Amino acid sequence: MPANLKLRPRMQRLLSPAISQAEVIGVIAWLGVLMADPLVTFGLDKLLITLCLLVVCRLHSVVSNFYLWRLLGVAYMVLLSVGFAYVMRANLELQVFALPLALTLVLSSAILFITAQDFLTCAALVWIVIWPTVPVGLYAGIEIYLLIFCLSSVSVGFILSYSYLNNLRSVLLVESEFRELAHTDYLTSLLNRRAFMESFAKVLAAGETGYFMMLDIDSFKLKNDQFGHDVGDRILCAMATCLKSTRGSHSFGRIGGEEFGVLLVGDDPYIATDYALRLLQAIRDSVAPPHDYTCSAGMTRFTAGADLSAVLKCADHNLYASKRNGKDCVHLDGMPVCHASWLSNPQEVP
Ligand code: GH3
Ligand code: MG
Ligand code: MG
Repeated sequence: MPANLKLRPRMQRLLSPAISQAEVIGVIAWLGVLMADPLVTFGLDKLLITLCLLVVCRLHSVVSNFYLWRLLGVAYMVLLSVGFAYVMRANLELQVFALPLALTLVLSSAILFITAQDFLTCAALVWIVIWPTVPVGLYAGIEIYLLIFCLSSVSVGFILSYSYLNNLRSVLLVESEFRELAHTDYLTSLLNRRAFMESFAKVLAAGETGYFMMLDIDSFKLKNDQFGHDVGDRILCAMATCLKSTRGSHSFGRIGGEEFGVLLVGDDPYIATDYALRLLQAIRDSVAPPHDYTCSAGMTRFTAGADLSAVLKCADHNLYASKRNGKDCVHLDGMPVCHASWLSNPQEVP
């Protein structure tokens, strides 16, 4: 997904509070106009405009759909302009405010839209709605100034909107790059320990149950010593590829030098052990001799709200049972898992 699209939800969340506050100010100004001037009578028509404004305002602050949210932003500004234009049409004395009102609406909305195009659309609609109420006769012979005001408000607003959004986008892009770096293991591109533990904590907090598997590459120091660290690094990347291509996990990450963690969500022990055996087989097949390698694993079940460090300790305990029992195998709750049918006849390891 292009970076700009990825940033949309964050930009929407960041802009929303300011937009809501500006819209409330708009509604207060509208009510102020209705109440301040004795010439303005509060009839069904104005009640309807007020209700529409309140509904649009409320919807705009709660709706999450991006396109609807944008549409409501423009709809609000148009509705407010229609309301003011309606009052000014009915009360000629108020028409002297048409020009400053249009300028205020256009300029104040410059940083309230998520795209500069939305601002342009809104600015054009505001001018179209309010223009007929501008007392052109008042400016007889100097109408050109009206045009200058109109064009300069839209141009200044556009530049404000465009540069503000560009700056916001660059700041958010840098922030999301840092965020990604902080969560990614540089060598394998998997989640690093911190990010994996965060995802585990989220699963536990969400009340999920499942299985946690800790994996450790067998005799990895020997591989490094025999073939060099570059081969060791390639083995780590091959391991990461196996984790990515073996279907069935919820999340996985590199939690130590040659140690990896896998989360499986769901209660079925057959699915969990089948996953573990498929993964260990994929690992055996992933690199051709002489650089081939194996992995030992320890698995444990976790329930909703379990203590994270207790789960890790238990998986570690099972991992060491696998190491003690010849490596290249997986243990679940103290017992070796040989194949999925193991569950019907598990054999306790002394
Ligand atoms: P065991 O089967 O008991 O797990 O033995 P082992 O040799 O795998 O375990 P040990 O803890 O003795 O060695 C782990 C090695 O992993 C030591 C360290 O040099 C290596 N290692 C850790 N991180 C990296 C890395 O990023 N790249 C490479 N190439 N090696 C690494
Ligand atoms: Mg280790
Ligand atoms: Mg090891």
